Amino acid sequence: KEQSSCSYFIFDQQHSHLNEKQVVIEPELISAVRRREFELYYQPRVDISNGNIIGAEGLIRWNHPEKGLIFPDEFIPTAERTGLIVPMGYWVLQQAGEDIHRLREAGLDIKHLSINLSFRQFQDGYLCRTIQRIIEKYDIDTSILEFELTESALFNNELHVREGIEELHKLGINFSLDDFGTGYSSFSLLQKLPISSLKIDRSFVAGVADNQDDREIVKALIRLAHSLNKEVIAEGLETRQQLNFLASYGCTQAQGYLYSKPVPFAEFQQQLAEGIQT
Ligand code: C2E
Ligand code: CA
Ligand code: CA
Ligand code: CA
Repeated sequence: KEQSSCSYFIFDQQHSHLNEKQVVIEPELISAVRRREFELYYQPRVDISNGNIIGAEGLIRWNHPEKGLIFPDEFIPTAERTGLIVPMGYWVLQQAGEDIHRLREAGLDIKHLSINLSFRQFQDGYLCRTIQRIIEKYDIDTSILEFELTESALFNNELHVREGIEELHKLGINFSLDDFGTGYSSFSLLQKLPISSLKIDRSFVAGVADNQDDREIVKALIRLAHSLNKEVIAEGLETRQQLNFLASYGCTQAQGYLYSKPVPFAEFQQQLAEGIQT
């Protein structure tokens, strides 16, 4: 059953000659999906006040048999364009479900597990059903699950995206707005959609130490998040200086290299058990 859900995707051959790199990567990507050459890494999400891990974001990696580790920026755009993101996304969801289960078996609790969803995944009629099946299979507490969507995915106003979000929200799943600040947010939609948290894009976080504009933007984003009653998470936190700035303006959660890079599951499990040093 799990496998059959992975076989639905639309391969868009019309555009497969667009540029050379993609021509090379597409057939490889198809076989990578078939052979499951992927690995889900985890980046801890940390409570700024005490350094405790409160959750993680799952981030896909491609273990290419010859080229080694390939990062998502090199294959997600092709996967989205061709529809391969659909079976790939199912693999991610299935893996996340299995990993949540393994953590619970090990007695390691997390409050949030975030997964990136592409709006193309909502165009597949099996998304909600498949997620429901994974939740049942691994007996997952749905309040842990959080799906990250970008502004363009959330606000493209497609009916099936909105319906999908509502349906998943009814199961108890939370949503989070990714790369907050980089797109066009509609404040009224931000209120209406079941979004529980906003993730400040790392391009702004990177600038808070020496760029006055970025400082003002980050302050405004934090204030906006709080006035809309949303949690706010800073992405790409790399320095103590950035941490101090964010903390002083009321941001309470962060992810970034200051705490940890995304790591393989086993390493994340160890971080949960032993804590992380900064
Ligand atoms: P994103 O969702 O904005 O993820 C955050 C990216 O920032 C990750 O890159 C992460 O490794 C990186 N990052 C985290 N902390 C720091 C830091 O302190 N400094 C710097 N310089 N970078 C940091 P990654 O893992 O390469 O992922 C890139 C993008 O690929 C993600 O951006 C997301 O949009 C997409 N992606 C990753 N996994 C999936 C997936 O399973 N499904 C979908 N649809 N997209 C995914
Ligand atoms: Ca994300
Ligand atoms: Ca992001
Ligand atoms: Ca991003």
